[in-house]
Amino acid sequence: MEDTIFGKIIRHEIPSHIIYEDSDTLAFLDIKPISAGHTLVLPKKASRNLFDINEESAAALMRTIRIVTKAVKAVTNADGINVSINNESAAGQIIFHTHAHIIPRFKEDGLKNWNRDFSYKDGEAIDIAEKIRRNLL
Ligand code: 5GP
Repeated sequence: MEDTIFGKIIRHEIPSHIIYEDSDTLAFLDIKPISAGHTLVLPKKASRNLFDINEESAAALMRTIRIVTKAVKAVTNADGINVSINNESAAGQIIFHTHAHIIPRFKEDGLKNWNRDFSYKDGEAIDIAEKIRRNLL
């Protein structure tokens, strides 16, 4: 896999505001935050996104997300936290090394996650649920 800017951050070759580090994961402040405390958490082992991450890295990622999310909430006094992972450019991914965004949210902060103007036609939900079940690996 090609190296990314996050590879350089993992190797401490370029500076970042590191929040947490263990043998498998790293958390640091996003350089262009949505709000104060916006933190990125990533597994050190390179993977592009959730489509190719292995189970061990995914578990390590979730462990660190849990730890860091609680600290970010405590420090920012956020009313809530979004944890999001962008997978592929159509979903907003810019850096192709798996990472989760931990974003402090506040009542009335005006941020909109996404529109919900889609609805299933008759039978469509049953159909897609069945297809997805058949594709679980
Ligand atoms: P994506 O859109 O891939 O999910 O998010 C990538 C994130 O990485 C963006 O929010 C962007 O601000 C952040 N980012 C990109 N380059 C750097 C960097 O060099 N340092 C830090 N700390 N964050 C970065």
